[in-house]
Amino acid sequence: MWPEVILARGKRHLDPPMTRTSKLTPRARRATWLGLSLFALPLAPSAAQHRFVVQGEGRLAVVDEDGQVAWQVECALVEGVALAPNGNLFVTLSGGHLAEVAHDSRRFVWRADVDGERERLPALAPLARASDDGLARRREALAEFGDDLCAWDLTEIGPDFELLERARAIHWRTLTLDTHKDIRDSLAAEPAGSAGSDSAAVRDDPRRWGPNQVDFPKMRAGGLDCAFYIVYVGQGPLDAEGYARAKEQALAKFDAIERQARRFADDIVLARTPDDVLRGVAEGKLVSCIGIENGYAMGEDLALIAEFHRRGARYMSITHNGHSQLGDSNTPAEPLHGGLTEIGRRAIEELNRVGIMVDVSHSGKTTMMQALKHSKAPVLASHSGVRALCDHPRNLDDEQLRALAAKRGVLQCVAFDSYVVDGKAREDAIAKAREELGLPPRERFSRVDPATEDQAKLTELRKRVAEIEAQHPRATVADLVDHIDHAVKVMGIDFVAISSDFDGGGGILGWRDASETFNVTLELVRRGYDEAAIQKLWSGNTLRLWREVAELAAD
Ligand SMILES: [Zn+2]
Repeated sequence: MWPEVILARGKRHLDPPMTRTSKLTPRARRATWLGLSLFALPLAPSAAQHRFVVQGEGRLAVVDEDGQVAWQVECALVEGVALAPNGNLFVTLSGGHLAEVAHDSRRFVWRADVDGERERLPALAPLARASDDGLARRREALAEFGDDLCAWDLTEIGPDFELLERARAIHWRTLTLDTHKDIRDSLAAEPAGSAGSDSAAVRDDPRRWGPNQVDFPKMRAGGLDCAFYIVYVGQGPLDAEGYARAKEQALAKFDAIERQARRFADDIVLARTPDDVLRGVAEGKLVSCIGIENGYAMGEDLALIAEFHRRGARYMSITHNGHSQLGDSNTPAEPLHGGLTEIGRRAIEELNRVGIMVDVSHSGKTTMMQALKHSKAPVLASHSGVRALCDHPRNLDDEQLRALAAKRGVLQCVAFDSYVVDGKAREDAIAKAREELGLPPRERFSRVDPATEDQAKLTELRKRVAEIEAQHPRATVADLVDHIDHAVKVMGIDFVAISSDFDGGGGILGWRDASETFNVTLELVRRGYDEAAIQKLWSGNTLRLWREVAELAAD
């Protein structure tokens, strides 16, 4: 069954690639040319939800088995279709566009400019076997759309439906919590001028399926219930002026998260306790929590910790990249303080006292081990990987994992490409290709600006990047679950969880945004994790830790 093949190693086994799969059959192509074509395929594979995508006369429609149109949209001709393991459907359209249809068939998501994206699609599969039987079964129901159609019958060639259905059932019963999702200050901002004139407000309107990796529609589509929204401040100088600026930046992010919960109270709640999380989800709402990334935000003002707690913060990291006033970061490698500082120790005491979890992600190893010792309460590593699988200084080695678990702390394994697989060879090869082509160095291919760079060179670069990525693949959901597997082996099932780092550099093949959250559960089920274990990984362990920290504070 193909999901196992695909998810075993993601793109490495993606064969044949999208561009060669699921073209229209000659019969359908001929009919398309005549302008009469329809083709249909079942969309959601469970019998109860059987729906079909139909193309004809310049529109794409989803119809029920009884022929009712669920929705339709004007669009270019469909060239091919493929099904992702989460049940979503990808449709390539003439003109180089790609459409994605959510598995419940209620949303139609355009993903334009497929050229860059096509190579990255995590889990496309051939789907193209016309079935005479299916054709006959559907011809009647779809008759109103025309007299020629071609059907792809998923029940014959599709994914492992038993696994898919089992995983889906578990996923929708499980409270899913992502411990790290970055935001901009303009999250949920009121448009400044007339409607549509304020592009940041439109971009960061969480009600729209927009460019961010997390918004309400994507959370709902992917079954992501809850996320820690991050009050992030970049590391600056360790002086009064720097601290003042950091505090200001932090407060702007608190404002944004509060504003989202206030403006869209019907959609999302801001949780201050684990019970708030449970209640919000029980009410059918999405849930936001607050984590602070970088204790730099508090400067040397210990009283600010209680203020941050009052604003809803429930974890705070000791550092980000660069040494803070509280302790040494994992980067630069050369320490500044030799671990925790005096104010760092006092900050941990205050965090324990008010009930904010101490986050050791981004900390250097010495800082982390000292924080474990100094904290009365268990701590978390809100978004890190395991070093045994990817030797990156952001990741935790087995000694750190064991120490974290011994303290009843939790590692939230992160879906950040370069912490999941070693991407150095890939990055080096891409940098070299850029140099050879006379293009300026860029960290990532996706940030190439087509307006300012030579088109022919870019086309060549794109080709080379595809070759390089075939040799040095990007991280997949399977790779992320390798980290989870390792952490569970070393720490035990009660001390491991999951995070994305979405909108802060996170995202991997198969979990590119919140709408693909189900793929993580699917892979866990495929690996044999039972429902109780999956619930622990997705939220149980993090909520247990949060509860313990809150109870210790109350004592
Ligand atoms: Zn981070």
